[in-house]
Amino acid sequence: MVSGVQMQYYKVCKRKLWLFSKGIAMENEHERVIEGKILHERAYPRLEDREILVDDTFKLDALDKEYVREIKISSKMPEADRFQMLYYLYELKKRGITKKGLISYTKERKTEEVELTEKDESAIEKAIKEIYVILQSPSPPRLKKLPYCTKCAYYEFCFALEGDD
Ligand code: SF4
Repeated sequence: MVSGVQMQYYKVCKRKLWLFSKGIAMENEHERVIEGKILHERAYPRLEDREILVDDTFKLDALDKEYVREIKISSKMPEADRFQMLYYLYELKKRGITKKGLISYTKERKTEEVELTEKDESAIEKAIKEIYVILQSPSPPRLKKLPYCTKCAYYEFCFALEGDD
């Protein structure tokens, strides 16, 4: 089954999705993961349903009567964050639980509400299929420079040979 992070990386960069899923982790990726883990552990102290693991695959930060809640450090990748939340809402709906999503960005101190539509459900289903195809490939998707590559943990991995003539 696809994890929430994989769904997010699918939106950010399909090459990153492949590298991450094959266990190729870079040092600064570890640091970011630890930073995120600390943030998640400290979030929502007043909510009882926190850090809920669903089917050993994806972990929801918190759940209340109306919302699935996710906390993020900053809103650098809002579309990918939204897509990850839609995936959670989709998976919960499949299990008979209908919720809305709420993403909290700590740096900007803002929240985004997310609602799953039928169109979103089709987009998620398409994404799941594509993710399986990407992960079955023996090599990563071709390198395509993206605006945020320089900030990516895999930057050196992807661009190590750039400038070597
Ligand atoms: S450096 Fe760019 S191409 Fe390479 S994984 Fe990161 S976002 Fe994708």
